[in-house]
Amino acid sequence: MMETERQQPWTTDFYLELPKVELHAHLNGSISSDTMKKLIAKKPDLNINSQMTVIDKGKKRTLEECFQMFQIIHQLTTGPEDILMVTKDVIKEFADDGVKYLELRSTPRRENATGMTKKTYVESILEGIKQSKQENLDIDVRYLIAIDRRGGSLVAKETVKLAEEFFLSANDTVLGLDLSGDPTIGQAKDFLEPLLEAKKTGLKLALHLSEIPSQKKETQVLLDLLPDRIGHGTFLNSPERGSLDLVNFVRQHRIPLELCLTSNIKSQTVSSYDQHHFGFWYSISHPSVICTDDKGVFATCLSQEYQLAAETFKLTKSQVWDLSYESINYIFASDSTRSKLRKKWNHLKPRVLHF
Ligand SMILES: [Zn+2]
Repeated sequence: MMETERQQPWTTDFYLELPKVELHAHLNGSISSDTMKKLIAKKPDLNINSQMTVIDKGKKRTLEECFQMFQIIHQLTTGPEDILMVTKDVIKEFADDGVKYLELRSTPRRENATGMTKKTYVESILEGIKQSKQENLDIDVRYLIAIDRRGGSLVAKETVKLAEEFFLSANDTVLGLDLSGDPTIGQAKDFLEPLLEAKKTGLKLALHLSEIPSQKKETQVLLDLLPDRIGHGTFLNSPERGSLDLVNFVRQHRIPLELCLTSNIKSQTVSSYDQHHFGFWYSISHPSVICTDDKGVFATCLSQEYQLAAETFKLTKSQVWDLSYESINYIFASDSTRSKLRKKWNHLKPRVLHF
């Protein structure tokens, strides 16, 4: 790239106008403060204020505190109508941010107080996706059903069954499974059987792994499943012993990484933006996708994450464009969707690069 290009201050409009793909977004963590206020107003007895569900600029929390924040958010999204509302709001916000293709992920939750079942939870998300489509928003949305590590193998098996059911019936909207939740809880081997079963059915796998240090064995167990994408992979390339084996494995199989800069900084698994492992993986041209993780909790958006990556690692406009364009390769939807997105990107390219 031309060196002069780096010198030019670009307006933030470039990042907003840049068409983007979001592949790692947890529904409950993506709830904006506006939607949060609506939820809080519906449940005043809980005495929750909006500061309890967001980590503002410059603030940090431990990973443990972040998981506690999710417990608070879950108290606010207990009924199917809450799930429908947050799904629609989150989709609208991603669309407003220039996201053209979105894979949302969420763990089906049962709530005895409202009668919400795991099935109605999933149906509410699908209804939100359907209604957004009817509103003609310029965004294609799919859903990955999430397995929370806390539930152990039994719940994981149940979740896979549910995912299989919707994979077959939900008209190409449910495409895969996510494994997430507190990485200090449970063991990878507890999830092998259900995840293998899901894979056989044709469900894609996006697995959070290597989010905390010293988990080499655990990480290798999950990698041996040959997941379709890796969430974070923060400590894959650490100086720890055996780390090189993990890096080589991921490179050999070219497993794409979903990388969420602000999330890792605010939850303190990465010390500073310039230390983020995006730098390592990008420098070896490994498939890397910039994502938000939890745009509500971490007070960010995908445009901002692209801007942070570009400014920290001195990317040119063309490199940022390519990063976004190549992320289309790693979506879970079919080849025909990929072609449609590429066409859209190519159509927008002259206008966006003009910024
Ligand atoms: Zn995540």
